[in-house]
Amino acid sequence: MILTQDQQNIRDAVLKLCSRFPDEYWLERDRDGVFPHEFHQAMAADGWLGIAMPEHVGGAGLGITEAAIMMEAVAESGGGMAAASSIHGPVFSLQPIALFGTPEQQQRMIPPVLSGEHRICFAVTEPNTGLDTTKLKTRAQKRDGGYLVNGEKIWISVAQVANKMMLLARTTPLEEVKRKTDGLSLFFTDLDRAKIEVRLIHKMGRHAVDSNMLFISDLWIPEEDRIGAEGDGFKTIMHGFNPERILIGSEAIGLGRVAIARAARYARERIVFDRPIGMNQGIQHPLAKCWAQVEAANLMVMKAAALFDAGQECGVEANAGKYLAAEAGFEACHTALSTLGGMGYAQEYHIERYLREVLIPRTAPVSAHMILNFLAEKVLGLPKSY
Ligand SMILES: Cc1cc2nc3c(=O)[nH]c(=O)nc-3n(C[C@H](O)[C@H](O)[C@H](O)COP(=O)(O)OP(=O)(O)OC[C@H]3O[C@@H](n4cnc5c(N)ncnc54)[C@H](O)[C@@H]3O)c2cc1C
Repeated sequence: MILTQDQQNIRDAVLKLCSRFPDEYWLERDRDGVFPHEFHQAMAADGWLGIAMPEHVGGAGLGITEAAIMMEAVAESGGGMAAASSIHGPVFSLQPIALFGTPEQQQRMIPPVLSGEHRICFAVTEPNTGLDTTKLKTRAQKRDGGYLVNGEKIWISVAQVANKMMLLARTTPLEEVKRKTDGLSLFFTDLDRAKIEVRLIHKMGRHAVDSNMLFISDLWIPEEDRIGAEGDGFKTIMHGFNPERILIGSEAIGLGRVAIARAARYARERIVFDRPIGMNQGIQHPLAKCWAQVEAANLMVMKAAALFDAGQECGVEANAGKYLAAEAGFEACHTALSTLGGMGYAQEYHIERYLREVLIPRTAPVSAHMILNFLAEKVLGLPKSY
């Protein structure tokens, strides 16, 4: 895809900022599991968290295309999913507030997140319902002036350091609604640790950005923290599904690109049998194929972003782009690992970290299976299979 001069400037500026956070910084954060506060603050200070937010709430008023270009650069810098996930929430998950929040909510909720003062997490997934989101069991029961919330969430990223959360909960029992998508409500509220136990999940990679179980007991949410109408939460949150797939796809593209670049550099420099290993076609061809796959996936991701920014339907492209980017990114990281031979497995070459991290876009926020289900139904006209 051809970037405009403004888009190229965004890419260059983001890469320049990211160069202050070298490989060693990300390796250390992966080892100690500490949230990359310095990186998050640096991106906030330069205004990047609000790239796709409207100007009246302190954003830059640009599109998802520009946000995708930024996230690609963040991951491609070597920060990978750790860097991207540390800012992913502010960049994408405030969209429901920007679209459906009252002017008071927009002013109260958005600027402190963009400035880096507030950290947010996004609590949707539940242990007993998984991808079948409309069956989620967390209940928000109406009381005078607000809601009393009880339930469990799983895989909630950033909850160890967040002070705010976007929460999807059921306000009307499933048995009492016409459509299963009705009766869910969206809240943006305090992550009150007196009422929410946050339990870390020990996971495979992206150790700098935590993922957690949340056990919510009698959490009070005031009415003014509900986003949109009661019962409309699923529709509200759906507006963010496509941008999220686009951004996650971009992050996978960034990881694929950095893995290929690192592997090609190693292949130029590593001498075995008196010549660079990169002189062997068995090394060249898999890397060249990965490059072609990553760049082709990027075109689909960017097509989805362009459609979204033009206000057009982009569900098929956003899902296909996320799927292709995750697969191409994974293949690139895996191929890079074998290019480096034994050193691919050593932490100091960073590829093993990329490989562990690129598995995240393959699963979250939606699995490859569910994307293929969706494409089969929407593009091929096949019967819905789930
Ligand atoms: C590192 C990480 C960070 C995350 N961060 C967040 C976060 O911040 N907030 C949040 O809310 N969630 C988060 N998630 C959760 C993520 O979105 C879910 O893991 C994902 O949606 C899959 O849900 P599940 O794990 O419950 O899988 P399940 O729903 O249990 O599915 C298990 C497997 O079965 C397959 N499957 C199920 N039904 C079908 C079907 N009908 N057809 C074909 N295959 C099917 C799925 O594709 C999957 O492979 C995160 C996950 C990870 C790993």
